[in-house]
Amino acid sequence: MRIFDPHIHMTSRTTDDYERMAAAGVRALVEPAFWLGQPRTSVGSFTDYFDSLVGWEPFRAGQFGIRHHATIALNPKEANDPRCREVLGVLPRYLEKDGVVAVGEIGYDSMTPEEDEVFAAQLQLAVEHELPALVHTPHRDKARGTERTLAVVRESGIDPGRVAVDHLNEVTVAAVAGSGCWMGFSIYPDTKMTAERMVHILREFGLERMLVNSAADWGRSDPLLTLRTGEAMLAAGFSDDDVDRVLWRNPVEFYGQSKRLDLSDIETEATFEGNSILRGGS
Ligand SMILES: [Zn+2]
Repeated sequence: MRIFDPHIHMTSRTTDDYERMAAAGVRALVEPAFWLGQPRTSVGSFTDYFDSLVGWEPFRAGQFGIRHHATIALNPKEANDPRCREVLGVLPRYLEKDGVVAVGEIGYDSMTPEEDEVFAAQLQLAVEHELPALVHTPHRDKARGTERTLAVVRESGIDPGRVAVDHLNEVTVAAVAGSGCWMGFSIYPDTKMTAERMVHILREFGLERMLVNSAADWGRSDPLLTLRTGEAMLAAGFSDDDVDRVLWRNPVEFYGQSKRLDLSDIETEATFEGNSILRGGS
């Protein structure tokens, strides 16, 4: 099984995670810029972080044969802090970089007027830089947050086929399916969405425009839940080709719209476990 995790925060994960992911078949991933827990107080903290997303993390991932790409944005939570607003001004220079395949995560946290403004401004940046957009939906008041998200996407004029609306569940999937946007699902160990519930959603809504991620971060999460979802799909009667579509070809198609995905020379053999990249460690 070859796996492309379209949303995972490797900055917050250990090297052991990279090793386990490589052994599980993860060959590519996208790391969206997000909130780091400790509030940032100046634009310099953001640029150092963005630099690590396009420099250090791809190097770290590469040691395990995993291709790393990033999405760059001012996240919804920090959009509310006036000290962080200056970040919008440095985004254009990052949105031109090779490893950056979308604007994200953007969207809503608490649905404030400040978030409205920053969300709309960043959708325009996606249009101007001809990049897809990765949109986070709020964990509280999810149905209303998703409706409002879709309204802002419509108003922006961006092609919905270039937008992924993430962290969906049974309550919010139908609205996004009807919008033409891509549907993202974050599989967690004990909250939000499980592999089994994901399989039911795939049965009901089909495989088109579906993205499954582990969203692993500082919280309780598991970078192998993409693999677990593939296993649950097979156990439920989906074919190997279906699994490949959801866990590999769909994210490749979505982020491929940036024309910056570099998946050349990736080793996707099942025998990768014995590969020298895993044994190596200088
Ligand atoms: Zn995230």
